[in-house]
Amino acid sequence: MAEHVVIVGAGHAGGSVATYLRQYGYEGQVTLVGNESAPPYQRPPLSKGWLRSEITLDDLLLKPLATYEQAGIDLRLNSVVKEVETKEKRIILEDGETIDFDKLVFATGARPRRLTLPGSELRGVIYLRDVTDAALLRSCLDASKRIVVMGGGYVGLEVAATARQLGLEVMIVEREARLLSRSASPELAARLLRIHESNGVEFRFLGDVAEIVGSEGKVSGLRFNDGERIECDVILAGIGAQPNVALLEGTGIPEERGIRVDSEGRTSHPDVYAVGDVTLRPVANFEGIFTLESVPSAIEQAKRLSCLIAQRDFPPHELPWFWSQQYDFTLQIAGLPGLADEILVRDDVSKGTFLVFHLRNGALCAAECMNSPGEFLALKKAITHGARPDEVLLADLNTPIIKVLT
Ligand code: NAP
Repeated sequence: MAEHVVIVGAGHAGGSVATYLRQYGYEGQVTLVGNESAPPYQRPPLSKGWLRSEITLDDLLLKPLATYEQAGIDLRLNSVVKEVETKEKRIILEDGETIDFDKLVFATGARPRRLTLPGSELRGVIYLRDVTDAALLRSCLDASKRIVVMGGGYVGLEVAATARQLGLEVMIVEREARLLSRSASPELAARLLRIHESNGVEFRFLGDVAEIVGSEGKVSGLRFNDGERIECDVILAGIGAQPNVALLEGTGIPEERGIRVDSEGRTSHPDVYAVGDVTLRPVANFEGIFTLESVPSAIEQAKRLSCLIAQRDFPPHELPWFWSQQYDFTLQIAGLPGLADEILVRDDVSKGTFLVFHLRNGALCAAECMNSPGEFLALKKAITHGARPDEVLLADLNTPIIKVLT
């Protein structure tokens, strides 16, 4: 009997493991179990083009449905895994079916952190993770004049930009003193704030919401702790994500703030692996262990794990990076912001570009690039090679980045 790899979770990470396994020549059985009705799809456009009705779910699919069958991947949609039994080496689905495995891959992702405020259960309080959430959000936006976005992270900013493009009034309520306090530099956050303000978004920082107010079971606004009331028709909560780790119970694999893996996706159990948003992973050349909720990280992990299982040579490590699109700008971030001891900025108003360089002990460790795809690629390469650029030239608008880095 051929070895059987069972992947729990058919998002970007799980779907990529299944298809890379075949691409790398793995000939064992592959079963991919997902609780949604759609085959693996890209989630980033759900807050942008998909929400603006410019693209359909078919456009988002990682592979057409038929590909899985052609590749000999047993894709189980609408299937909820109830339990993982590592001793018996099997998973149990909600309908009672059991599936035996030789190797198990957790690709269970994360779910939106939920509000616990009074009024959080009202209709019109929405979260955004999957296409069902996005469909609900889209129908609410169609019927609304004013949205409050709770949380000034990437979910909140991307939805705010789209809602403005759709003609809604938008307010962002963030409980921290600035945008993207977990994930971006203060310099980039300040620039994003200016752009959103110039597009008509209102902000409340240090916003302490006491309750969500409703009438006839539906959101009509919210009340802050200082008594101020805001009216709105819909609330989008983008207040962070939590890893889906409930299935770890009884497996013997410790639950930290996710599942701890090494750079090939091994967990503490010899036959169990994990990839994607559920993991706490190391990053080559950076000390520590990180949650990287981004598509490039999921793909890198999927590639390395598939090489491990298919007994192929590993590709080179990739530097973490991710992107966001809001209004007409593209933001690309390479490396790990937040580790720097020095930050330099290159703000070229004439070109509409904005670059933030993060240095640690003189070496580039991250770069945040707005509307600068060429510079982004050069900086990504430079960070990978531990470049120590001249700091005066780095901030000098008259010296092309390429020259500074060579
Ligand atoms: P996030 O980046 O953690 O930002 C959420 C923000 O909401 C935090 O600043 C948080 O403050 C704040 N917050 C928490 N509770 C609040 C409340 N009751 N009222 C107002 N603000 C509150 O999370 P996210 O934007 O939901 O995104 C989830 C994950 O998906 C993140 O890892 C994000 O990077 C990722 N993502 C990536 C992309 C992309 O790659 N383009 C796009 C979307 C999402 P505290 O820190 O105090 O909790």
